[in-house]
Amino acid sequence: MVKNRQFQQPNLPEEPMQTEKEDDSLHASFNVELPFDIPSDVEEENIADDSVYDDDEDVPAGPVTYTVIDNATQRGKPKLVDNIGFSYTLKTEKNGARTWQCSVRNKTIHCGVIVHEKDGVFIPPSIQHNHTAAPGTLTATKIKVTTPVHSENVRSGRERKDTNKMSNNVNTADSMIISLDKITDRSKEHSISNSCEIEDRVRNLEKSNRKLESENFELKEKFLELQSHSMKYNLTFGGIRNQDGYEENTEDVLRSFLLEEMEIPNVGDIQFQNLHRLGERSDGKERSIIGCFTRFSDHERVNRAAASKLKNKPQFSIYQQYPREINERHKKLIPKMKEFKRQRRHAKLVYDKLLVDGEVYNLDARCEAPPTIPGQPLPNNDGDY
Ligand SMILES: [Zn+2]
Repeated sequence: MVKNRQFQQPNLPEEPMQTEKEDDSLHASFNVELPFDIPSDVEEENIADDSVYDDDEDVPAGPVTYTVIDNATQRGKPKLVDNIGFSYTLKTEKNGARTWQCSVRNKTIHCGVIVHEKDGVFIPPSIQHNHTAAPGTLTATKIKVTTPVHSENVRSGRERKDTNKMSNNVNTADSMIISLDKITDRSKEHSISNSCEIEDRVRNLEKSNRKLESENFELKEKFLELQSHSMKYNLTFGGIRNQDGYEENTEDVLRSFLLEEMEIPNVGDIQFQNLHRLGERSDGKERSIIGCFTRFSDHERVNRAAASKLKNKPQFSIYQQYPREINERHKKLIPKMKEFKRQRRHAKLVYDKLLVDGEVYNLDARCEAPPTIPGQPLPNNDGDY
């Protein structure tokens, strides 16, 4: 081992070492070259940049310089312009450090070149712009900012924008007001036509209601007439004593009454279709007897005899039977009839009317509201026939 070292050490000239190293590994030679690849590429880019600038007559020689111009953008922000022809807008600003982004950012070209600024020192971008420079940008920007006309134009431009916006708003508001007015008018028309329609409907309803009321009244009167007509053969006998309660033979009782109290001849010839007592009276008097004669002549014979034969027997009464409604009308007319009779005037009830000297006394008697007087002072046989 030592021998080898000794041998080797004297044989270590510069050239053989290199030869040995090259022989040791091919990989080593790559390692030597590899680090140089990247910087050489960067250098080539820089060279390429220079060549571009060289083509442009206006591109100044020497280092790139930067100028910040305040109020240079339309929004009044500062702009960074270099002496080559690139301009930058302020991207970020913090603790005296600012980043500026190339102002070429439109739909077709978006340049991402950034210039860093720290305490007034600018660090040129490490990458190239993807567009050509615009020489004279610095001067043009300076002129734009310092020329009053420009700011005036900007201001008036902004004012114009604001004014346009305002007038647009006013126009919108105006059209909204007009629309509202139209809606209000329409709703007014609608409510007017609605209320007219309602009034018409109410008028029609009232009209048809009056017609129905009138028809109902006529029908009611017609029904009363028919009911009265069906009672034409009936007489109501009041005050006849009940002989044996519910065991009573009412027909025998009535025939006895007609014979004994009214002195009607040939009572045995009188025929009745129906004969019965009415229900209890509210005044506690004897229950009335309803007699339905078979022949109207018998009805008339008995009815006519009543006036003279019962004149002095007030405990008894004989009346033509009528429906309750007609009885109620009679009840109102009877006091008047008695009054006229005391005056020696000819007064009598015909159906539901009082005739005084051949004239109808009260035309409105039929129009009065139906009475609601409780009890049954006068006989009524509604539903019995
Ligand atoms: Zn750019």
